[in-house]
Amino acid sequence: MNDFQYLMSTKVLYGKDIIIKEAELFKKFGKKAFIVTGKSSSKKNGSLNDVVNALKKNNIEYCIFDNVEENPSLEMIDEAAQIGREENVDFIIGIGGGSPLDSSKGIGVLLKNKNANVEDLYNEPKLDSIPIIAVPTTAGTGSEVTPYAIFTNHKIKTKKNFMHRVFPKIAFLDAKYLMHTPYNVTVNTCVDALSHLVEGYLSSKANILSDAAAEKGMRLFGECIPYIKENNFTYEVRKKLLLISTLAGMVIAQSGTSLPHGMGYPLTYFHGIPHGKANGLLLKAYLEFCEDKKKVESILECIRMNNTDELGELLNEILGKENFVSEDEINEYTNSMINNKGKLKNHPYKVNREDIFKIYKESLM
Ligand code: NAP
Ligand code: FE
Repeated sequence: MNDFQYLMSTKVLYGKDIIIKEAELFKKFGKKAFIVTGKSSSKKNGSLNDVVNALKKNNIEYCIFDNVEENPSLEMIDEAAQIGREENVDFIIGIGGGSPLDSSKGIGVLLKNKNANVEDLYNEPKLDSIPIIAVPTTAGTGSEVTPYAIFTNHKIKTKKNFMHRVFPKIAFLDAKYLMHTPYNVTVNTCVDALSHLVEGYLSSKANILSDAAAEKGMRLFGECIPYIKENNFTYEVRKKLLLISTLAGMVIAQSGTSLPHGMGYPLTYFHGIPHGKANGLLLKAYLEFCEDKKKVESILECIRMNNTDELGELLNEILGKENFVSEDEINEYTNSMINNKGKLKNHPYKVNREDIFKIYKESLM
């Protein structure tokens, strides 16, 4: 058995009305909260209301930044951090999908380090953040239990993980906020969680604990597949998908993500393909490329599939397959992926330019 280290320092609370029930937990983080959220979903699904009520109950002041965009840009992080500085906030509550949760981590680092500027999010040394509390309202990224934050950098025309490591202090998981999530968001995000489980399981950094979580997450995903196909998202199914997403976050917190995530970023940046869908489009060809056939078999068994063709059919059916890239573009994206040393090193074997090109081509043309 290989040696390993394991760190996941977030307190996870999972259940209906958990924010209201555990409202006093906010008290120890300070007198003023900065709520960081997207433009509208948290106002409609009740999550913002529950957080505001919990803060009021404990006489904690708050201000709200509700302008987080999808695939958050450095410019937006900078703007929010200015407001947080002016408001003198003590801690951040991120509410929403991966975009507001990741943004909270970037803003938190800038608020903790008054002299840091937004470019320092990508630079050494690693910096701390003010406390972050996460309220996920999508079941996909697992950002509530990962130390990562991915930002769109228009200067280098792609998305990139920041340099720092910020685990939220608490993750409040309540599936009631996900009950009215549209089909496309539900499907794209659950495929992101599946990609985390699969990439994490096949990563060179996987260990016995991350594999145990990945296998459990994939088995639960297998149980959900009939409901996903039928667009039958009961409360119990939503609850399971939220747990899968958090388990998958715990996996990648150890193992990182690898080829599909790195290869998906240009599909999002240049073609607007949602993050989870971008990974999902690449997943079948990636699995067929992976050398560790024993682990690939184990993935298929966990998700109750006989072969990769079945998985490809499922993904095409739920995500929708379109032709949106040219061969020239694939060449360009291949060049940029082959320079993405961080993602390549998470793949346990050497990856050539031709391998990347082939995965793109098989997936997208
Ligand atoms: P998202 O970009 O946070 O949100 C997508 C859309 O879903 C937004 O329009 C949002 O609306 C809406 N939405 C959120 N919750 C909803 C709900 N309960 N009901 C209805 N609509 C809802 O999507 P995401 O897929 O969760 O996050 C993607 C981001 O996370 C990407 O930037 C990706 O790179 C990153 N990511 C991070 C990690 C990590 O470990 N940190 C891992 C994977 C991916 P509003 O804007 O109105 O809220
Ligand atoms: Fe992801």
